[in-house]
Amino acid sequence: MPHVDPARVEQVRANLAAVRARIEQACARAGRAPEEVSLVAVTKTYPADDVRILASLGVRDVGENRDQEAAPKAAETADLGLTWHFVGQLQTNKARSVASYADVVHSVDRTRLARALGERAAAAGRGLTCLVQVNLDDDSRAGVIGPRGGVDPEDALALAADIEAHESLTLGGVMAVAPRGGDPAEAFARLHGVASRVRDRYPLATVISAGMSADLESAIERGATHVRLGTALLGNRGPIVG
Ligand SMILES: *Cc1c(COP(=O)(O)O)cnc(C)c1O
Repeated sequence: MPHVDPARVEQVRANLAAVRARIEQACARAGRAPEEVSLVAVTKTYPADDVRILASLGVRDVGENRDQEAAPKAAETADLGLTWHFVGQLQTNKARSVASYADVVHSVDRTRLARALGERAAAAGRGLTCLVQVNLDDDSRAGVIGPRGGVDPEDALALAADIEAHESLTLGGVMAVAPRGGDPAEAFARLHGVASRVRDRYPLATVISAGMSADLESAIERGATHVRLGTALLGNRGPIVG
């Protein structure tokens, strides 16, 4: 790793240890095994060198929320053989690019996007795992805080079927972002209900992607199988430009 700063390695190593301890404690409280919870390191705004550092510390799953940033970073670190998770809102015209490097798309929120990803993955000879993003915002508040993406909970099964319809797509489960300001516990409990209904019909769709740096404990207590962590691993991000 030619450009890697040893102080940065130690900082990320310490952050990773702290995060793993938080996950273990949350699992212990919930009576779950820590192996049930996968950590996805969200590297947005951080350079490819940080991806290399994370990989050197044993992290295999990395996430990004913008294709413009993810595509070059995935290319720069392709030698590492990591699993790339796309977690941000996705325009249909970016499906071709995302399908070329992503392994898991957490943010599938409409039929057209599922179709575009299915066609692009097939054309690239790749398979994609897709999660149904569920909107947990309270409708009455949505106008104030802005939508965070996702289908209404009652539409999740229909979108799951649309994903399953594509040979190149595998339905992995569900994903959500807790509403700003609300009680994450209540939101994650609702997501767990949606996840159960999806899994009843699609028994292999076991993923519940929920929990970020601020609320991972609450998500793990309510069944999260994947936590998506940026700040807790890499530090506070500056304002996002562009
Ligand atoms: C940025 C981001 C995360 C990570 O958030 P942190 O609070 O930095 O841990 C998780 N999920 C999504 C969808 C994100 O955009």
